[in-house]
Parts: sequence; C-alpha cells; structure tokens
Amino acid sequence: MSAGLQPTDGFLARVVEGRALAEQGDFRASEEHFRALLDEAREEHAGNHAMAMQSLITLYGRGGRYLEAHMLARRLAQRAREEGPAADKVLAFALGAICGALSQLDLDQPLGEALSDLRTVLDRAPVPLTNLELEYLAAAGVHARGRGDHELARRHWSEYRRIVQETEGLEQVFHWAMTMGGAQLAYHEGNYPLARHLVGQLGAGSETPPFHRLKELALTVSVHAALGERDEARPLAREALDILRFVKDEEGLASGRIHEGAVLARELERLNEWGLAASAYDLVAAAVLIRLRQVDACTRELPELGLDDAESSAVLGRFRHQFVREQQVLLRRVAAVYEARGDEFIQSLIGRGAAEGFVSICAWCESVRPEDGRWLPLGHFIPRDGTFDVTHAICPPCADAMQKTSA
Ligand SMILES: [Zn+2]
Repeated sequence: MSAGLQPTDGFLARVVEGRALAEQGDFRASEEHFRALLDEAREEHAGNHAMAMQSLITLYGRGGRYLEAHMLARRLAQRAREEGPAADKVLAFALGAICGALSQLDLDQPLGEALSDLRTVLDRAPVPLTNLELEYLAAAGVHARGRGDHELARRHWSEYRRIVQETEGLEQVFHWAMTMGGAQLAYHEGNYPLARHLVGQLGAGSETPPFHRLKELALTVSVHAALGERDEARPLAREALDILRFVKDEEGLASGRIHEGAVLARELERLNEWGLAASAYDLVAAAVLIRLRQVDACTRELPELGLDDAESSAVLGRFRHQFVREQQVLLRRVAAVYEARGDEFIQSLIGRGAAEGFVSICAWCESVRPEDGRWLPLGHFIPRDGTFDVTHAICPPCADAMQKTSA
C-alpha cells in the first residue's frame, strides 16, 4: 500500500534527474521528463503518481503556469484527502500550491478558502512544515494586499522574514523572494525610496537568473514612473526589453513574460515612451499566443487536469474569461498608443509585418494574420511552437472603418 502516498526510492531518483534539468534552466526537457514519469505511474503506483504530480506542480509554479499548477494541485489534494491523515504532508503541499496559484491568478474568494484549509492542516502537523508556512504567509500577504489591508500584509511579510532569518539554511534560498516581497509591499504603500533601496540590494553582485532580473527591472521602472524619472527609467526599460526578447524561446516562462511585459508597457506609457511601450506590447502578444497553445495542449493531454467536475470547469472558464479580457485590455492600450500618433501613422500599419514573416495582430479587432497568411479571428490561430515574432498592425477592414470616421 502507499501509506501517506510515499514514492519508491527508484522513482525518487528519477524525479531528482528531472529537477536537475529545471535547475539548468531547461524547462521543456524537465516537463517532458516529469510527464513521462506521470504517464508511467498513473494507475500503477499511487505514491509515485503523487510524486510525479508534485514535481510538475512545482515546475509549472516556477514557470508561472498557474492554471496548470492549480488544476493538478486540486487533483493531488483530492487524492491526499482520500488517503487520510497519513498523507497530510502531501495535502499541505497541494494546498500550498493552490494558494500560490490563486494568489497569482487574483481569484480572491477561492484563495481565502484555500488559505483557511492550509492553515488547518499546518496547525495539526506534528512537526512544523517550514517551507509551506512560508508559502502560506506569502499567499496570505497577497490576499491581504488585494483587499487593501496593507497593515495585515506587512504583518505577514514580517513573519515571513522572521522565519527565513531564524531558520538555518533558509536565508540563502529565500533571500530574493523575501527582499522582493518587501520591495513590492513598499511600492504598493507608496514608499518609493524604500522600494528602490530594497530592489537595489538584489542586483548587487549576485548572479541573478534573467527572469528574476526582469522582475527587478519592471519594479524599478514602476518606481521611476511613479516619480516621473524618465531618464533613469529608459536604460532599465531597454535592458528589460532585451531580457524579454532573450527569454522568448523559453516557452516555460511565457506566462511570466505576459505579466512583467504588461507592467513594463504600462509604465512606459506613463512615461510617454511610446516606441518602447509598443515593443513591449509586441513581445507580450507573442507570449499570449504561446500561452493559449500551452493551456490548450495541457488540458487535452493530461487526464489529471480532469475537467469532469463543476469546480474545475468553473476555474478553467474563469481563466479563459480573464485571459480574453486581459487580451482585450492590452489591445485597447496598443490601439490608443497608435491612435495618439495620428492617421498617417495608422495607415502605415497596413501590411506591417507580412514582409518580415511576423505574425500580425490587429490592435483594433484582435484578428491575427499568421506568417504570410490571411486574417483570422484570434481563437482560430494556435501557433505550432514558440518560434515566431509578433507585431501589432491594423487589418484592412479596420483601416477602412478608421478612414471613414476620420473623413
Ligand atoms: Zn481589425
């Protein structure tokens, strides 16, 4: 039997191989490895199956694929509950992942419920589950901040920092998350000098993965934008755009690119840096298309994402709805950026991208024109892989309509 959903030693060794791939930054190979393990363990060994799910949940969480992480974690939590108290550790892990995903997906009510479930399991654990306690505090902080309760958010963050500093071996691992959490909090409280000071500590001398650097830059540009410091923001924004281009081939990070890229674009708009903002929007649009493809493939291929119950369907429906809405907001902004540059500029957008082999998106109606093809509605184009560039343009019908209204 698989009391407590324990994996076998041999299986664990292969899980470690998959983790090493992710450590090296090869998210795609790591995902393939874990999905092969998942296929193998399904119906065969409950503990190994649970371990394969845990590995994928962690990987998806790191890559910002919160929808997949959330759905898998719900399946894992369900399995752990069936097993009873012996599987409490697995249950706490699953609930921690659900809280982490929901706090990123910005779903307030289910997050509140998941946090209270996690609190219950953590409180009855015979030994403290330190990492999951940190997961709880981070998500609870986001929850409080989302409700405008900065004081509670700060208390959660202080407690997070206390645990990290007092537990041996944690300072190194959690230093970045801890400092970044403090900087974000300071930014949301309007304490820009403190936010800048904290982010400044991160860059100093450490070897930062590009994606962490991107988050640091996005926040620093936000601080400069809030203070109206255009000259200071510009070189940092350029560095961030370089990273967005650089991580373009890393599909595992598409979701994070959408978020950081959108933050960057909005701040560049605030600074009246239209050209840089338009570049950021193009890069975000490419990530959006990749992300649609990922979700589509994952929900088809992984039975664990199970859409057979009402709540899973509701979450997926909500994700799609949110996703479409975000896409529309994004395009409205791009259209506004273009319209501000006048009719002549808009006319120059007709046919833009086709000659260079770009995928073009009409910023007015969401139509997509794949490389060299004809205009299609957004949902009808799903890219085969991540190797394409996107540019925002205008489709002929929208260009005609625009000319009529301005004539
Ligand atoms: Zn159009």
